[in-house]
This record gives sequence, C-alpha cells and structure tokens, in this order.
Amino acid sequence: MKLPPLSLYVHLPWCVRKCPYCDFNSHAAKDELPADEYVEALLTDLEQDLPLVWGRTVHSIFFGGGTPSLFNARQIETLLSGFRGLLPVSPAAEVTLEANPGTTEHDGFSSYRDAGVNRISLGAQTFSDEQLNVLGRIHGRAEIHRAVESIRAAGIDNFNIDLMYALPGQSVNGAVQDVKEAIACAPSHISHYQLTIEPNTAFHVNPPQLPDDEIAWDMQLECAKVMAKATYEQYEISAWARAGYQCRHNLNYWRYGDYIGIGAGAHGKITLPSEQAIRRRVRHKHPLTWMKQVVDGESIIEDRVLGERERIFEFFLNQLRLRDGIRKSQFSARTGMAWSEVSGQVEEALAKGLLNDDGDLLKASELGWRFNNEIQAIFLP
Ligand code: SF4
Repeated sequence: MKLPPLSLYVHLPWCVRKCPYCDFNSHAAKDELPADEYVEALLTDLEQDLPLVWGRTVHSIFFGGGTPSLFNARQIETLLSGFRGLLPVSPAAEVTLEANPGTTEHDGFSSYRDAGVNRISLGAQTFSDEQLNVLGRIHGRAEIHRAVESIRAAGIDNFNIDLMYALPGQSVNGAVQDVKEAIACAPSHISHYQLTIEPNTAFHVNPPQLPDDEIAWDMQLECAKVMAKATYEQYEISAWARAGYQCRHNLNYWRYGDYIGIGAGAHGKITLPSEQAIRRRVRHKHPLTWMKQVVDGESIIEDRVLGERERIFEFFLNQLRLRDGIRKSQFSARTGMAWSEVSGQVEEALAKGLLNDDGDLLKASELGWRFNNEIQAIFLP
C-alpha cells in the first residue's frame, strides 16, 4: 500500500432554495447565513484530520455544495489562507469553486480569483428558461451568460459548465441545443449528467414525465457527437474536457486517491500504509448541528477502517467510470490487496463482455460503458 495524492473537499451547504430534483446535502437558507461562524468552524474541523495527514501536500481544493458562491470572496480567502497555514498546499493546486449563476451578484469572479480560486464550476443545467423553471432553479438563461462574461472578464479560462439532459419534456434536439449553447461559451470543461429521480426529493413525491431510456440514450449519443466535434474529449462517463483541462480534483476521487472532507456531511478517505488501512470519516449532515459539534471536537459521526470487499468495490466503481480505465499495477498500491483477490470478478466481467483487457489496462467495453451498473453489481461487497 502506498500513499496516493491528497485533495481537500470543503462543503458549503446552503442554497437560496432547494431544487426539486436535488438529493445533495443542501439546505435552503431561511435567514442570513452564519457564514463567518461556518468559516471558523471549517478551519477547526480541518485541524481534527491533521494527525492523519502530517507532512502530506494537498494538490487540489474543491468548494462544493450547496451553493458555495453564497459565501463572499473574503470568506473564501480566509479559508484558503487558513488551509495554507495548517497544511502544505501545492502552489500549483487546482482550486475550484462551484457557483450558481443566480448567486454571484455580491462578488464578481475577479474577487474570487484574487482570493485564490483558479477554476469555476458553473451550475447552468440547461439554457432553456422554461426548463430552468421546471427544475426550480433560481436563474434564467440571461444569468448564465452574465456569469460566463464575468468569469471571462476575470481572466479565468479554466471553467466548467454543468448541464443536465433528459429533462421533463425535453427533445433530443433540445438537449443538443443546450450543448451547442454551452460550447459557444467556450468552457474548458463540460459536465453532462442525465437527470434521474432520487429518493427523498420533491420530484420523487411528484415525479415529472421524463424522456424514456431510449430517448435519453439518443440524447447522450447526439450530444457526445457535438462535444467531440468541438474538441472536447470524454474522459469520464459524465465529464468532457479540452486537452489539459480535466478536473484534477475529481480525477483524484475516481483514481481512488485520498481526500480530506470538511464541513457538514463531508466524507473523507485517508490511506494509512503503516497500518495497511484506509479510513473513512464522515461529518454530521446538518449544518447547525455540525457547527456546534465541531466546537466540542465531536463532528465526526463515522470513523472506520474499510473492509477488503469495500476497498475492491470503491477501487473498481470509481475507475471504471474513466475512459482510461484501471491500471492493474495500481491495485495493490491503492488497496493493499493482491490482484488474485479480484481476478474471479474480473473474469466474470470479461466473460460478459463488460470489460476489455488491454495489458496493464482494464477498461469498460462499449457495453460496459452503457451498462455501468452491471459492472458495479459484479464488484458489490
Ligand atoms: S442549487 Fe444545486 S445543491 Fe442547491 S438545491 Fe439546487 S441542485 Fe441542490
């Protein structure tokens, strides 16, 4: 077992209101946010994990949510300088802030850039005002374009646009138009997700009529053609990037790297080679409860060593989403286990045509790419 690269995830859990499809740990901000107190609590929270990562350098930082752009640039700067005071952060670290096009009016993107943010992930979802309304988003098409202009004016060329497809009432042509409009904004990265109905959401209680699986598959194929033609390369099931602009933070997750997760509901994964162990640490979900518990050093509600079957599942689950697939030679280094522990499951997936064996690389076949959940089922603990 060897130490993989280390990232830092920071969860900022509030949104203006809850979108009906959203199952993230996000909470509608009813009153003024306790943002300064939350910032202070995040730095205290990070201190709790430091003994597990002494001397290790953080290579990427990701402010996710929720809606991180509800926090102003001063608060983000306080966090970034606080992190640098607590642990080594690479000078070349990728620092991403998720932003909602409807919540960036209090601080332009140049302020976030000056605070140390060098990558923006913009939650556009669609350019159709009608569908944005159905999705319960607080922004319209015009706000997306204003946000893109502000990102460009700030000189941030590394930005992602989040899009969803298979929306209620959407046609294949509508999905393709969304992708074309996103490409016209010249982002370095596009995340392209299918809308699914998740438990514990308003859409689960009152489901809208969604396009069927065949139409959704056609949308995926047609949108893929348009992105590929515009020189975006698909490197993960839902992620497309121009050369050199893959999201380093997400790649580290998918390659089964380590990450510290701080903030309400955040998860962390830390490898401890001296103990031949991988630790999973999870924080309390509710922001106000988490803030109170941090003060008492009790915000971590789960802290355990992953079992062998979990390590196998996570290693395969994450990496088989990548076009590059898995390096067999990394299996032992990342999991502390021998390849023979998993060869039976790999043989089964190969026999079903879900994987292709290419020397050291094991990749999802076109069948496995489409039916990724069948691969997951084989590796389930
Ligand atoms: S803005 Fe994003 S995180 Fe917030 S409720 Fe909507 S989908 Fe969820």
